[in-house]
Amino acid sequence: MQPRVKLGLLQRTYIPEVLIGLIITARHFFVNLRNHTLRLMGSRSVQPGAVTIQYPEERRPLSPRLRSLHRLTKREDGAPRCVACLMCETVCPARCIYIVPKENPDPHIEKMPARFDIDLGRCVFCGFCVEACPEDAIRMDTGILQFSASSRKDMIYTMDQLLAHKPASSQ
Ligand code: SF4
Ligand code: SF4
Repeated sequence: MQPRVKLGLLQRTYIPEVLIGLIITARHFFVNLRNHTLRLMGSRSVQPGAVTIQYPEERRPLSPRLRSLHRLTKREDGAPRCVACLMCETVCPARCIYIVPKENPDPHIEKMPARFDIDLGRCVFCGFCVEACPEDAIRMDTGILQFSASSRKDMIYTMDQLLAHKPASSQ
């Protein structure tokens, strides 16, 4: 264990750090005030000043590349596109995908998932599962960014929940 650093008298009052914080905040305030004023006067050469977005009433448009809550895609007959190859489960660095394969009734497709769970309490939203999927069966394009649960168990999303999610573009 590192020995504790002894603070000087001035440091123990925290006054220098509080003053530094106030100076930084004031600098941001005056730089933004200047930029907003100059742009209001028609100057386009200065950067736009920072603005406060009144979230959640006001929302910024989402980037099409944004990785949001997962969904499982479906075939035309409504069955999951997933062929239970386990590629996503294998590649997932957080080990939060759990798949149980079963035989597919369609003779042209070998397998399908009997169970497909994602523990979103452990997911790091890396998108590796989407990249690894050879069937385009899993996507992270729902645009859903706010989800919560009152227990760890409720953060586990089942196949039915994942199949029910819609792409953000259709909402
Ligand atoms: S986004 Fe990453 S961590 Fe989350 S389920 Fe997919 S592979 Fe795992
Ligand atoms: S979602 Fe894709 S990668 Fe994962 S098991 Fe299904 S087909 Fe394989």
